[in-house]
Amino acid sequence: MRSMVRGTTVVADTFATMSIFTRIIRGEIPCHRILENELVIAFLDVNPLSPGHALVVPKEEREQLHQLSQASASALGAALPRVAAAILRSTGATAYNVLQNNGAMAHQAVMHVHFHVIPRFEDGRGLGLAWKASPLDAASGAALAKRIAAELDPA
Ligand code: AMP
Repeated sequence: MRSMVRGTTVVADTFATMSIFTRIIRGEIPCHRILENELVIAFLDVNPLSPGHALVVPKEEREQLHQLSQASASALGAALPRVAAAILRSTGATAYNVLQNNGAMAHQAVMHVHFHVIPRFEDGRGLGLAWKASPLDAASGAALAKRIAAELDPA
């Protein structure tokens, strides 16, 4: 969708923010579909880290997880274990990671919420992790948890 503003062609917002996943949801481009219902679609990742690597995607167009409606969040929560179980049974994997990136800085490339389900195999195929953790100080942990809890939206 395009429109002219003072002689300049601008891309309308709806089109500019449409992600490749919206086009999959609309059936405009193909995918290897695993599950689909009113609120969620799951399909194989086109560039898998391991066989069975799948994406579980809300049909609601939101960039980041915290922007989702309760209905989409619930539907994703219901779909994820089903998809994971099916991937384990069909690939023979016994371990997997669920990854969900929010924001380009956090490695999000497609700006439409999605969960990766990535089987991990003994030969190392799957998600590689660099987990640079350091111990939580008890006092600052208590204060931080309190600050975060105070920011929770009502359930
Ligand atoms: P992320 O870095 O979390 O945004 O990951 C986006 C993922 O979407 C990548 O793993 C891509 O391989 C995957 N992807 C991009 N386009 C498609 C597509 N058309 N069908 C399936 N997976 C896709």
